[in-house]
Amino acid sequence: MKATVIGAGIGGLTAAAALKAQGWTVRVLERSTTLEPVGSGLAMMPNALRALDLIGIGDRVRELATFAGDGGIRRPNGGWLSRTSAEAAAARFGDPTVVMLRATLVDLLQSVLDPAEIGLGVTVDSASPDGTVTTSTGEERADLIVAADGIGSRVRSALFPDHPEPRYTGLTAWRLLTTDPDKTGAFSETWGRGLVFGVNPIAGGQVYCYATAPAPANTTVPDEKRELLRLFGSWHAPIPTLLQQADPTRILRNDIHYLPRALPALHRDRIVLLGDAAHPMTPNLGQGACQAIEDAVVLAHEVTNGTGPAGYTAARLPRTTTIMAKSRQISRLTQLGALTPLRDAAMWTTGRLGPNLVLRQAAPVIDWTPPKSEWTSHHSGIES
Ligand SMILES: Cc1cc2nc3c(=O)[nH]c(=O)nc-3n(C[C@H](O)[C@H](O)[C@H](O)COP(=O)(O)OP(=O)(O)OC[C@H]3O[C@@H](n4cnc5c(N)ncnc54)[C@H](O)[C@@H]3O)c2cc1C
Repeated sequence: MKATVIGAGIGGLTAAAALKAQGWTVRVLERSTTLEPVGSGLAMMPNALRALDLIGIGDRVRELATFAGDGGIRRPNGGWLSRTSAEAAAARFGDPTVVMLRATLVDLLQSVLDPAEIGLGVTVDSASPDGTVTTSTGEERADLIVAADGIGSRVRSALFPDHPEPRYTGLTAWRLLTTDPDKTGAFSETWGRGLVFGVNPIAGGQVYCYATAPAPANTTVPDEKRELLRLFGSWHAPIPTLLQQADPTRILRNDIHYLPRALPALHRDRIVLLGDAAHPMTPNLGQGACQAIEDAVVLAHEVTNGTGPAGYTAARLPRTTTIMAKSRQISRLTQLGALTPLRDAAMWTTGRLGPNLVLRQAAPVIDWTPPKSEWTSHHSGIES
C-alpha cells in the first residue's frame, strides 16, 4: 500500500513515519526546498509523547524535558493567578511536558524516514479523491493521500469549497528564542489586558518566549523587538531582560487564525486531511502539533487495521473539534479588555482551589492514549 503525503511539517512527517511503521510505502512531497522549520520552540505534551513512542522517538523527546518547579499564570506585576508544579503535572499525566526546538523535533522525525521518501521542492497542484496527485514534476498515484498542507490547505478548500476559510482572531503572535542571564528557570504565562507573554526554558540553556497582542491583520513593524519592549518591557522579571537579550533579526511574527466551524469530515474517498489542514486552532492550549501527531498514529492504525479513512474521521473529528473550540475560548479570554479584572478574579479563585483543579481541567486533553496496534519499531538514527 502506498501513501502520498502532502507537506513535510510536523503533521506530514509524523504521518509518513506512522504509516511506514504500519508497513506502508510512503512519499512526502514538500514545496519548500529545505525542511528547516521556523526557528522557535514548541511544547510537546504527554498525549503527543505517547504517540511519538509508536514511531520510536518518544524517549528521545523525553530526554529534553527541563520543566521543573512551580510555574503557572501570572499578572504583569508578577503576582500569581494560578500555580502548577511541573512535577505534580508529570506525576498526574505519567510524562512531562517537553518544550523543545521545532528543529530538533523535525530532525527526529526525519531520522525515521529515508531521504528518498521525502521529495523537496515539489509543489502539489491538485489531489483527486481517486488517489492521484498532480505536482510541479508530474503525476503520482497512491492508495491514500494525506493532505498535511497546513492552515492554508488547498486540498481542504478543494474538498469543501463551501466551508468557511480560517479567520483572523484579531491577535498577532511573536515567537523568539533568547537567553536568561539570571537563570530564573521558571515557566510562566503572563496575562495582561489583551496581552499574553509566555516564558519556557528549554534544554541547552535557551528560553523560548511567545507573546500575543491585538493588532489589525497583517501588521508588521520595522523593529519588532522595540514593539515587544513597548508592550511588555515594564512587565515582571525576567521578561524585560529576555527581550533585551533577543536577536531582533530572529523574532517571528504571525497573525493567529482559527476555523469558525469544524469540517463535516476529515476525509473524502482516498484523501484525508491532517494537522492544521484539518483543524487549525489557536495556540492557547499548545495542542496544534500535538493533535497533528495524534492524527498521524490514529490514521496509520485506521487505514491499516481499522475501518479506513471513515474510521479516521470518526476517531478524530469529535476530539479535535472540542480542542479547537476550547483553544478559541481561551484565546477570547486573553482578548478581554475592560472585563480583565473580573477574568483575573475568577482565575485567581480557581487557582486558590488548588493545582489539582487545574490538572483536572487539562486531563481530557492530555489523558489520551493511542490505538492499540502492532507497530514496527523504528529507532532514531540520531546519536545522543
Ligand atoms: C505562536 C504559535 C505557537 C504554537 N505553539 C504550539 C505548541 O507549543 N505546541 C503545539 O503542539 N502546537 C503549537 N502550535 C501549533 C503548531 O505550530 C501547528 O499546529 C503545527 O505546526 C501544524 O503542523 P502541520 O504539519 O499540520 O502544518 P505546517 O507546519 O503548516 O506544515 C504544512 C507543510 O505543507 C507544505 N505545503 C503546503 N502546501 C503545499 C503544497 N501544495 N505542496 C507541497 N507542500 C505544501 C508547507 O510548505 C509546510 O511545510 C503553535 C502555533 C503558533 C502559531
